[in-house]
Amino acid sequence: MKHTLVFTIACLLTITACKQSDEVVINFKYDDNLSLEYHEVIDAYTQLANHYPEARLVKMGKTDIGKPLHLFMISGDRDFNPESIRKKGRCIVLINNGIHPGEPEGIDASIQFSWDVLRNKNDLKNILDSVVIGIIPVYNIGGALDRSEYYRTNQNGPIYNGRRRNARNLDLNRDFAKQETENARSFARIFHNLNPDVFLDTHTTNGSDHQYTITLIATLYSKLDTAMGKFFHDKMLPGLYERMEKNSEYGMIPYVRMTNYFGDIKDGIMGYNDHPFYSTGYAALFNCYSFMTENLVYKYFPDRVRSVIDFLTQLTGFTYDNCSEIRKLKDEADRKIKEQEVFHLNWEIDMSYSEDLLFKGYEYVRPERSERMRSRGYYDHNRPWIDTIPYFTKYDPVLIVTKPRAYIIPQAWSDIVNKLRRNEVCVYRLDEDTDFEVETYYIENVEHSQRTNQGHYVNNNVDVRLVKQVMPYYKGDYVIFTNQHANKFIVEMLEPRAPNSYFAWNYFDPIIESHDFYSIWGFQDQLMEMLEKNEELRTQLEKKKYEDISFKNDQMAQLRFIYERSPMYEIEKYNRLYPVTRLMQEPEDLKIKAVTSTVVESE
Ligand SMILES: [Zn+2]
Repeated sequence: MKHTLVFTIACLLTITACKQSDEVVINFKYDDNLSLEYHEVIDAYTQLANHYPEARLVKMGKTDIGKPLHLFMISGDRDFNPESIRKKGRCIVLINNGIHPGEPEGIDASIQFSWDVLRNKNDLKNILDSVVIGIIPVYNIGGALDRSEYYRTNQNGPIYNGRRRNARNLDLNRDFAKQETENARSFARIFHNLNPDVFLDTHTTNGSDHQYTITLIATLYSKLDTAMGKFFHDKMLPGLYERMEKNSEYGMIPYVRMTNYFGDIKDGIMGYNDHPFYSTGYAALFNCYSFMTENLVYKYFPDRVRSVIDFLTQLTGFTYDNCSEIRKLKDEADRKIKEQEVFHLNWEIDMSYSEDLLFKGYEYVRPERSERMRSRGYYDHNRPWIDTIPYFTKYDPVLIVTKPRAYIIPQAWSDIVNKLRRNEVCVYRLDEDTDFEVETYYIENVEHSQRTNQGHYVNNNVDVRLVKQVMPYYKGDYVIFTNQHANKFIVEMLEPRAPNSYFAWNYFDPIIESHDFYSIWGFQDQLMEMLEKNEELRTQLEKKKYEDISFKNDQMAQLRFIYERSPMYEIEKYNRLYPVTRLMQEPEDLKIKAVTSTVVESE
């Protein structure tokens, strides 16, 4: 052990001594329609980190394939401590690449951009006065190691592509809420360590054809803190599109999501509701301006790489120019979120409102009616057009929840608490057995998806009935106060109706299974006796029989009606009771202890 430590320190000293002395040799291949292989990517960043004192390459945890997840950082004054960087008022931009390794533009572009910044090409190094850059070289390492020329067959290069899914065959860009992969857990460590102001995830998309090489998904401005959302919508997004139009030969347009699958781009395009299982939706929960670049598959790979280099230049340039405002808004939002009472958990697009968007498209030629079954339309590159189209960007909240003072999670569900702990959620444990009056949810209705999604049959359209009651809790049960930086994440994950909650991802499914079976006929005599003695109950029963003819003819339903109004019904208290409850008022003599470890165990 000692030997290893001495060896590590010696290596670090060697690396430090080598800085500025070795020559950097990176043989980019994107001009030859090839993307660098995983080992070449790590070698390139290692060289940059060894050569430039402003650069550092660190391992930040595991991935499912067994190799470590790297973080490459560039910091102008060689300060790599995020807390100290933030104290100096600098902005942190985090870039994630290769989440879908068959979409590798960002992998090559980020190395090229990093090298250009470090060697001060076109005075790029100036941005380091106020911007610190973090880059995840390749996120889905397992997918990147498995290359084939047949992955992404309709994509215009590179010749060899990685596989979309990871070593567990999961799509990592659906794993940010549930974090079932080592990759996602290591990402959470990086993300919370940096607490970035700006986040970018690089992708490639198919679908409709048009003149743009690069498109952009921005998180919904309405999901952000109000002041941040206003800056995002009014200044940052127009600023980025303007800069790309002016400084890049490729320009840029919002991601093309048509209003109608069989429609025409000219009918308009829509903003993208990026749920928290996507990287951008997750990042936005923590007051971070988040983006996905989506390059168009039909454009040639070298152009796609260059367009991402251009966007990285403009994104960091905009952040440099506006750093003090970006930091001020984020710091205020980080403070305000702790006091925020009301949370919006789901959204619907408002199709009555649109903005004008200047768009450069290609005429779409529809197939003849008779050919429709065997032929599809095509975009005619000989008939380009420029026109203003409607862009639907306004989403309204459709699920609104007021936070409790705290959520209580029984220790039987420690796995859920571990998921929260990995996202910097402060957790306490009860120090003695206690009864609390809490708001509880009974799951009244839930629909299970028919198809598997990431190994889950996701729960949709959840309805709950809220009941206030006194519940017993035991020493070691968890208390999660809602006065935290992670408030949005806490509420999104713990409210069962939220579309990406832990309930939606099936972690609480045992509670919706049936309880022990009691034959209602076994209680018949006791129920009849009760009915005999209770005039009010008899009136209720007669009224129901009078109003509901099927009830009148259903003896079983009548017995159940009486049973549900009997003291015996108490035994069904835990039936479909969601175990996470809402403490609305903190008792004066609450005895709790803070959890300091990342992973908790039952006591
Ligand atoms: Zn993708």
